[in-house]
Amino acid sequence: MAAFFVLLAPLCGMPVDRQNRPPLSSSTLLEVAPGTLSCFAASMYLRSLILIVVCPIFASGAISVTEKMSTQPITSNPRRETDDLKEPTPFYEALAKALKKRKIKLDAICPPTDPVARRILEEYGAIYVADKKVTPPPVCIFTNEEQVTKFQEAAGVASELIGFDEIELQPEALKKLKKAREEAQKEGLDITPRDGAEAARRNYEDSVRLWNSRFEPALDYWLSQSRLTAEQVARLRTLPLSQQIAEVLELEKTGIYFSKDLSKSILYSIAAPGTSQHIAMLAFDVNEFENPRVREIMAKHGWFQTVLSDLPHFTFLGLKEKDLPKHGLRNLEINGQVFWIPNVQGVHPGLDK
Ligand SMILES: [Zn+2]
Repeated sequence: MAAFFVLLAPLCGMPVDRQNRPPLSSSTLLEVAPGTLSCFAASMYLRSLILIVVCPIFASGAISVTEKMSTQPITSNPRRETDDLKEPTPFYEALAKALKKRKIKLDAICPPTDPVARRILEEYGAIYVADKKVTPPPVCIFTNEEQVTKFQEAAGVASELIGFDEIELQPEALKKLKKAREEAQKEGLDITPRDGAEAARRNYEDSVRLWNSRFEPALDYWLSQSRLTAEQVARLRTLPLSQQIAEVLELEKTGIYFSKDLSKSILYSIAAPGTSQHIAMLAFDVNEFENPRVREIMAKHGWFQTVLSDLPHFTFLGLKEKDLPKHGLRNLEINGQVFWIPNVQGVHPGLDK
């Protein structure tokens, strides 16, 4: 039955893990229908039947999944040349290699004893395997403004006016963004910042403010639904931030979600305070993210989508797309958009099979 869904999912445009999906070779089909050639023919016939009869039924299921992820219409699959990619390296293996080159110890940036820091690393950690021309943050979670300022100064801040907005990024990230934009403009397209200057660099205080913009309304909602008591809500509000993040992630395990639409983890909606790739100045939110060609141009210049379900958000890795698997990232295609996420199983409940 599992194989049935594996075959069915890509046909119906459901979210599918491209790396874990077996290639659709004849040998795969024979595994599904082992035995004789007539079984092979039968399986082909069965698949045609599935396409005709079952896909419309599944399409409604696929829409409910994608609605949770975004409100954008389902687009056709803008595949880039990633179909023949190799099996991705385990994220922690690639990470160890990358950090060694930078002479950084994993325990120093993300203590193994801190489950929240680990979760953050596994959600947003693609920046740690980025090209050596950029500087990843010295900690998974910044805890104050001074620490952020010091890091940003050391990494270097380059700026560019796009429209009326001053965009600030690490120099290499900005250089490649400008190249991508030039290429887009040559084709009559554009790449512009979503929500002004906040599309790029953010400071610590921004990350706290944005966290509260999700945290506070969610508390009110779950109180109104009697899923949280007034005492719980009052207590959560007064907790130190690190504990607040930990408790929010625990509550989410019970279905009390804190994203904007309250249907998924807050981490897919906004970064936890002090953790954003925007603080690292390696992220840019793009207005034109729905255009497949824009996403293709961004990828060509080292900009990829690495945070599941954060649709306008691009991360600068400065790597070639075909090399991402060997850097410990695997791709997951949702709603026609390709996300490159750390290759760690079990981090994305409901998406990992
Ligand atoms: Zn973003």
